Amino acid sequence: MILRPHHLLCLLAFRGVAESTALGLRMEKMRQRYLGGEAVSIREGHDTICAQCPHMEPGTTCGSEAGAVTSDELDRRIVDLLGLSAGSTTDIQKVAEILAHVSDETLLKVCKGCSWRDTMNCMPCIRETVDGLTTP
Ligand code: SF4
Repeated sequence: MILRPHHLLCLLAFRGVAESTALGLRMEKMRQRYLGGEAVSIREGHDTICAQCPHMEPGTTCGSEAGAVTSDELDRRIVDLLGLSAGSTTDIQKVAEILAHVSDETLLKVCKGCSWRDTMNCMPCIRETVDGLTTP
């Protein structure tokens, strides 16, 4: 499977949506593949999840509204955090093992400015998924 970097975190946090939107269904499908341990190739720019976003327009990046962080900036932060680069490969276990040693404070900084952070309750959800994958 192919993902842009910040979706490596978003899929750890995702717990479904109340309504079956195309974006929610795609997120769930990719989450299942990710949780199943499938190798992930990292790519820059839009991926198959972005393709279902109702706000996506070709040649644009989301998060351009005032005060928000762009998706490209989120990607940069997560590439730095996880030691990745475009074209590299990872999987959920490798991601979880790195995040298990990352503080809540750092995680909050990495996701700072993302409009989904509080809506999706991302921080505790990421921690719960990581703990489940790394606690013996
Ligand atoms: S805060 Fe945003 S970037 Fe971070 S995991 Fe949640 S949706 Fe993804």
